[in-house]
Parts: sequence; structure tokens; C-alpha cells
Amino acid sequence: MIINVLDKGYAKLINHMGDDMSPVMDARVSTGTDSNPARDDALREFLLEHKHTSPFESMIMQVELKIPICILRQLERHRTVDNCDGIVIESLDENFRKWFSPNEQSGRYTEFKEEFYIPDIILGPDKVNKQGSSKELDQELQDFYKTVLLNKNIEEYAEYDQFIQKGVSKETARFLLSQNVYTIRRFTASFHNWKDLLEKRKTTNAQREAQQYAQSIYTIMQHLWPRSCALLEEHVFGSRNFCRTEVEWIKELLAREGAKEHIASLGSYSERRWTKFLAKLT
Ligand SMILES: Cc1cc2nc3c(=O)[nH]c(=O)nc-3n(C[C@H](O)[C@H](O)[C@H](O)COP(=O)(O)OP(=O)(O)OC[C@H]3O[C@@H](n4cnc5c(N)ncnc54)[C@H](O)[C@@H]3O)c2cc1C
Repeated sequence: MIINVLDKGYAKLINHMGDDMSPVMDARVSTGTDSNPARDDALREFLLEHKHTSPFESMIMQVELKIPICILRQLERHRTVDNCDGIVIESLDENFRKWFSPNEQSGRYTEFKEEFYIPDIILGPDKVNKQGSSKELDQELQDFYKTVLLNKNIEEYAEYDQFIQKGVSKETARFLLSQNVYTIRRFTASFHNWKDLLEKRKTTNAQREAQQYAQSIYTIMQHLWPRSCALLEEHVFGSRNFCRTEVEWIKELLAREGAKEHIASLGSYSERRWTKFLAKLT
């Protein structure tokens, strides 16, 4: 499975282990019970909702990203991606053994290709998120920026190539290349650790390009683990943390006359959910 990302990048599924039943069966080791189709879905949801994380570490996936170096640096900040310690897979397939190691095209052994990321939209700074961007600029300025970037990349790649021809080593010649050059990097992580990365990079706070890689990684996860990913929508991506003051505000709002009746009119309401919700606020 391969998903195109940005103008020349991609996210490709390389290998995986485990399915939606893995966390359920791992948890049942401690209860000493067999699979129970009537309760397996509820158990999976309970585990995720209550942050029982280790059962979700037996679902593992490796993806290969073709990605601009500056966007790769953001994803690499997630230290627990590539950390699948303690897991031993017995497989005749040699690739399976290798995929716990991170690997990247470094530009020391092989030359970088003349592939640079040119954004389709050029944005101005966001007023609230100081490190982000949001406002689309005048077309003229956007086109000017893209032309300058494109010409700069063409020029620097020609110089890179020439210096290699003259005898400069690849590891030194690569200093001439800009951060928007594409590289290839393999990442391996468990469902739990991918979830952590997506939680921070699939949101609008993250850089637009990083969001697109995160969304592609998520699409691959949905393909492998549809039922577990559906739980992320409810309990991770759709949920929010509240500080003590905000919890007080929520309590105040709920104490208003008619608050419960209003919630009860929503399709998602059930007495059991309401009781559970109130218990969380105490
Ligand atoms: C929108 C956005 C903007 C950002 N901007 C910047 C920036 O301007 N500059 C910058 O430097 N970074 C920036 N970051 C990176 C950010 O600070 C984190 O380093 C990154 O998100 C990884 O988060 P993490 O530590 O939770 O993930 P991981 O490294 O995957 O760790 C996951 C969890 O494991 C635990 N853990 C992992 N390693 C250790 C350890 N050594 N010791 C203790 N606990 C550990 C922690 O509980 C941690 O939360 C940004 C991130 C985002 C999402």
C-alpha cells in the first residue's frame, strides 16, 4: 500500500505485525479467558479509554516515507517511534528481523536525486500559533516565492553534481543542498507509539506538510487496524484535556437548569454514559 504525499513524496507500508484482536488477546492473558466475540469490542475500547497501553504495543507497523528533510526532522522528534524494545519476531523473512532499525538515505553512500519539495500554496504567519502559518498570500507573492525556490534548487543541485564530478565526497557535497530536498526514511512503531505521534502531528497545530504525512500514516493504520483506529476517533483525536479551572467551568454549565435534559435529547445520550461522564468530573 502506497499513498502519494506532497508533490513527490509518499508513505508506503513495508511490514506489519498484529491485528485488531491482538490487544484483546494480550489483555486476556492476564484474565485467563478466551476470545468472547460478544465482549471483545468492548474490552478493546475499555483498554484504550483507560490507557492500558501495553496491549496496543503488539500491533506494529513499519512505513517508508519519501519526505523533505525539514519535515522528517519534525517526525524524528518522536523518540518512541522506532522503539520496539523487547519484541522478538521469529520469521524466516529476513526483512522482518531488520525492520526494528531506523534507516535513512543519508546522502553519504548514494547521491540525492534532484527532487525538491515545492509547496503548492504559500502561506503567511498565523496570528495565534506563532510558529505556524495559515493566511494564503497574494498569488503574485506566492508565484514569486515558488519561482525563486525552484531556481535556487536547480542551481544548487547543478553545483552539488559538479562538485561530486570534481571529486568532492558525497557526504561533503550534500552541504550544498537545501532542507526541502527529499530523502527516504523507514519508521517502525507500535500502534501505541504511532498514536502518540498522530495525536501531535495530525492536528492543525502541526505544520501542514507534517499533517499530510501523519494523515497518510493514519490511512495505512486504518487499513490494517480499522476497529482500533475507530476508537482513536472517539477517545484520542476527538477528546480534549481540561485543566482544573476548565473542569470547574464544565461543572458550572452542567449545574444549570435544563442542562441534563438538553444532553438527553442528543442521539449519543444514554443513562450509563451520563453517569460515567459525571464520575469523570468528580
Ligand atoms: C506542533 C509542534 C510544535 C513543536 N515545536 C517544537 C519546537 O519549536 N522546538 C522543539 O525543539 N520541539 C518542538 N516540538 C517537538 C516536541 O517538543 C516534542 O519533542 C515532540 O512532539 C515529541 O513528543 P514526545 O516527547 O511526547 O514524544 P516521544 O519522544 O515519542 O515520547 C513519548 C512519551 O514517552 C516518554 N519519553 C520518551 N522519551 C523519554 C525520556 N527520555 N525521558 C522521559 N520520558 C520519555 C514521555 O512520556 C513522552 O511523552 C514540537 C512538536 C509539535 C507537535
